[in-house]
Amino acid sequence: MNNKEFSIAIPQRFFSDVSDEPFENCNVCNKYLLENDVPYVVEKALRNYEGHDFSSTIYEFAICQDCHTKMQKSMSEESLQSLQKYYGEVMTKKGPQPIVLDMNNFDMDNWLSKCFFEGNEISDMKEYQIVAQFKGPQLIMNTPPIIIGETAMKQMAELLSEKTTDEMNGFRDQFLGPAPEIEELIYGKKLILI
Ligand SMILES: [Zn+2]
Repeated sequence: MNNKEFSIAIPQRFFSDVSDEPFENCNVCNKYLLENDVPYVVEKALRNYEGHDFSSTIYEFAICQDCHTKMQKSMSEESLQSLQKYYGEVMTKKGPQPIVLDMNNFDMDNWLSKCFFEGNEISDMKEYQIVAQFKGPQLIMNTPPIIIGETAMKQMAELLSEKTTDEMNGFRDQFLGPAPEIEELIYGKKLILI
């Protein structure tokens, strides 16, 4: 891939709700995140309230890439294959045209208004997840943040084997975001930043 790396300052929606500042440490190994291009992922699960215009955070965490890779490795082969199949089907449905992000006119609210996988609107959901990747104090746009809607969450959870689910339960209930090899499938071939 010869895509240039695009990054932006961390938008407030990815701040920790607890401190109202960017996440400072990995929630697993406590590594400091905001320096030296340390790669990490932030994930939040949000809940909407019917008839109200706000959402509240159910859980949030930051995890450094080393810990993230370790957790991904604990997934069973079977789970990984099922998820890859799911992503493959989703990308086939989306068609061959690439996703184009115009960084001069990028509208984050609009980009994050729908489930990346199923395309349904978050305003119609009870619950959804938001996942984004960072390097130190920058949000990486080459793997842009995505919304995982409740339908997609349910489908992915069903694809995970019991073994994988058990292993992940100590840390969280569900899926931890795209594995590196799956990321390539989601973003690598189909995303163009201009
Ligand atoms: Zn860590």
